[in-house]
Amino acid sequence: MEEVVTGDNVSMNTLEDLQFQNTYASLPDVFHERVKPTPFPNPYLVSVNPAAAKLLNIDVKEWTRPEFAEYFCGAKLLPGSDPIAMLYSGHQFGHYVPQLGDGRAILLGEVRNQKGERWELQLKGAGLTRFSRDGDGRAVMRSTIREYLCGEAMHGLGIPTTRSLCIVAGEEVVWRETPEPGAMLLRMAPTHVRFGSFEVFYYRRQHEYLKTLADYVIEYHYPHLVGEENGYARLLHEVAVRTGHLVAQWQAVGWAHGVLNTDNMSILGLTMDYGPFGFMERYDPTFICNHSDHHGRYSFQNQPDIGYWNIRALARALSPFVEEADVNATPEVYEKAMTGKYAELMRAKLGLVEAHAGDDKLVTDLLNLMDSSRADYTTLFRVLGTIRQVSSTVPSEFRDQFLHREACDDWTARYRERLRAEKSDDAERQARMDHVNPKYILRNHLAQRAITQAVQQKDYSEIDRLLNLLSDPFTEQLGMEAYAAPPPPGEPSIIVSCSS
Ligand code: AMP
Ligand code: MG
Repeated sequence: MEEVVTGDNVSMNTLEDLQFQNTYASLPDVFHERVKPTPFPNPYLVSVNPAAAKLLNIDVKEWTRPEFAEYFCGAKLLPGSDPIAMLYSGHQFGHYVPQLGDGRAILLGEVRNQKGERWELQLKGAGLTRFSRDGDGRAVMRSTIREYLCGEAMHGLGIPTTRSLCIVAGEEVVWRETPEPGAMLLRMAPTHVRFGSFEVFYYRRQHEYLKTLADYVIEYHYPHLVGEENGYARLLHEVAVRTGHLVAQWQAVGWAHGVLNTDNMSILGLTMDYGPFGFMERYDPTFICNHSDHHGRYSFQNQPDIGYWNIRALARALSPFVEEADVNATPEVYEKAMTGKYAELMRAKLGLVEAHAGDDKLVTDLLNLMDSSRADYTTLFRVLGTIRQVSSTVPSEFRDQFLHREACDDWTARYRERLRAEKSDDAERQARMDHVNPKYILRNHLAQRAITQAVQQKDYSEIDRLLNLLSDPFTEQLGMEAYAAPPPPGEPSIIVSCSS
């Protein structure tokens, strides 16, 4: 096929032109199982994400070919791919499970794009593997749509994450509480290695493989550490920093993962394995998005502590090669990165450029007010930008969100004083705040509408609409006001659990 050269001097190719380099598959057999996906009958494309396709240099014309759905539901293998299921273990809800592994996700292989970036292509819902345990190896369309959309929503928000290429469905029914249509998600990341990928070899006392994995991760993903003294300790501390920054970003945007087991923690500090996640709507620090999390271990407000717990678990797994002092210092490295980043992000959400003593309290007092009023987290920060320093009134869109209007007025007076202290310019500040306080997030009822239309009517247009909207969540888009609004009052909250 003729190559199409784009403006970035990158040529767009056919699927068969993808350049595979299967580095993880070439690790010793103990790291994975070679296994082919189990396809669906009569596969068809539900949605494709042009931004992710561009990362692979796939030409837009490719997704009109029937082979597109065949390749991404495992009916055909892409030339050069070497599919495997990866081994890992992990701590689930605080308890060590000696073997997990990809029970339904199959790594098709790693593609190198024209910029030299390496992207693993992983097909989730691709059928049984050696690690499936009691599972069926499948994913329901409902959870596939949620992961597809949220991965891209997080990317749009500037939060590190796995990416989503496409969803493929077919004639396949998957049983959960009831029969549901199945689907497969093609997700991408430079690597899907998790904390649990290390833990499995630590607890099996297979230190030679632990070292192989650390060397692998350094070679391909932390190459500046190759041959460095204390390379493993530095790797550990860099992962701690990335994890701290990631958790701070979740807290600042008001998002909860729902299942922060160590097997869902990326070695690159990416958000991964989307399940019963949730964006907070009404501010509530005790928010638990996972219906199965009875004790709230993974509640919104616990995420920073869970990040600490998890990075300590990774430090323990790397302890055979890292000095005790560096192992012990790791949680503090995480803590410092997390708290520092959180303070920076919250200051930016308030439109503050300078750091002043008392900023933390200004933030905490606002959050406490929001908590007592159950104000919508996203819209409240968005309208905060409309506050002017010299005005006798507080904008009603802001003030009306609080039950205690006088407390809101007192807080606003302090905020104005703080803005004056750094000679803030109202218009410039609002423009800046609009780039950090999103207008649109993946609200549960929006995702649910896309899911209902897809599952009940085979109408996938809402998925594409949300994908497009959430790729640029900071810019007001014409005719999309309803997508920014909180759910109508009285609407029952949507319960999400692990049964995906
Ligand atoms: P998750 O909660 O999705 O992160 O998955 C935890 C573990 O259970 C991983 O090892 C998954 O691969 C496995 N798992 C989850 N759902 C299924 C399923 N339907 N079939 C097989 N394995 C599954
Ligand atoms: Mg997982």
